[in-house]
Parts: sequence; structure tokens; C-alpha cells
Amino acid sequence: MRLILLGPPGAGKGTQAQRLVEKHGIPQLSTGDMLRAAVAAQTEVGKRAKAVMDAGELVSDEIVNAIVAERIDQADAAKGFILDGYPRTLAQADAVGAMLNKRGAELDAVVELVVDDKALVGRILKRAADAKAAGQPVRKDDNAEVFDERLREYYKKTAPLIGYYYAKGKLVGVDGMATIDEVTKEIDGVLAKLS
Ligand code: AMP
Repeated sequence: MRLILLGPPGAGKGTQAQRLVEKHGIPQLSTGDMLRAAVAAQTEVGKRAKAVMDAGELVSDEIVNAIVAERIDQADAAKGFILDGYPRTLAQADAVGAMLNKRGAELDAVVELVVDDKALVGRILKRAADAKAAGQPVRKDDNAEVFDERLREYYKKTAPLIGYYYAKGKLVGVDGMATIDEVTKEIDGVLAKLS
């Protein structure tokens, strides 16, 4: 199964992706996680991405597409994967389409987590507070100021993907304001209909 989780920051993509990993035994490919790992390891990519990420802007398509192209060729992704936070631009959507095409594979669905913007900043601030309380590192972009920029980037560059995938007949909207368990159940129902 090859799935894209689409939605603004704080919509619950990461949380739902983890549940799908457990249920379906396919990996979560989070470009945010991969980029944060590159920043922590101070690789060339990490050095190029750090300031952009800290400002809440999008890393270049070129960098992100290259990371994903390499990642989907790893053995654990052969049966499928859940893309979390990718694609985020129309150019990335075209790129992933071409990557899959080249490998004779296809996207099964794009699940859009539909949320109310007003709830998002609160979720992000809670994630930061929870990480701090658990003694975990707090993401530098999980604060109200950077969040505003992340949301602007989402509407400017990522939201057009909703129409893009709708036109391809791949888009499924799920109510992301429901509880975590309810959202999981709704996604399960969507996936059951696909198979
Ligand atoms: P996330 O963990 O998905 O919220 O991503 C954190 C940050 O990493 C974003 O604000 C971007 O700066 C960068 N990033 C993650 N995924 C992408 C992507 N697909 N395209 C461009 N930048 C990305």
C-alpha cells in the first residue's frame, strides 16, 4: 500500500502514520524526520536545510525529492509506505508520481486530514510542552511565531495538492478534528474500501 497523508502542520499526520505502521507493517517516510536527522548529523543536506526549517519555510524540492527517491528504494519500502509531510509542493507531487511510475508502482490513496486552523497552533504548542515535560528535545519550529509561517507555506504551496489529487481521483478527506482513535478508524475504513 502506498499512501500519502496530507494536511497542515498539527493535523495529526505523524500520529496517524505511526498507527498505520503498526497495523500494516510498512514504514512511515517522514521528510521532516529525515531532514531533522540530517540536521542533527550535520550532513551537507542538513547544513543547507537547517535555517530554512527553523524559519518554518520549505526546503528545496531538489533536496527533498532526492531524499525520498533514495528512501523508497530501501528494502523495507518495497511493499509500500506512508508518506508523511511529502509531497508538499506541486513539483514534489509530480516528482513522486514519476518515481512511482518508473518503478511500476502506483499511489493507492491520498488521505487529507481536514482540520480547523484555529485548533492547530494549540496542538503544536501542546506537542512542544509534552516533549519538554518528557525530557525530550523540543522542535525549534514548534512555537507560535514559526507556526504562522508554516501555515502560510502550507496554504501557498501544499494546499494546491488537494485539487491535484482530487482531479486524479486519489483524494479522500477524513475529519481530522475527531479523536485520534476515531480518525484512525475512519482511515481504516477508507483503506478497507481500497482493497
Ligand atoms: P514536518 O516535520 O513535516 O512538520 O517538517 C518540518 C520542516 O521540514 C518543514 O517546516 C520544512 O522546513 C521541512 N520539510 C519537511 N518536509 C518537507 C517537504 N516535503 N518539502 C519541503 N520541506 C519540507
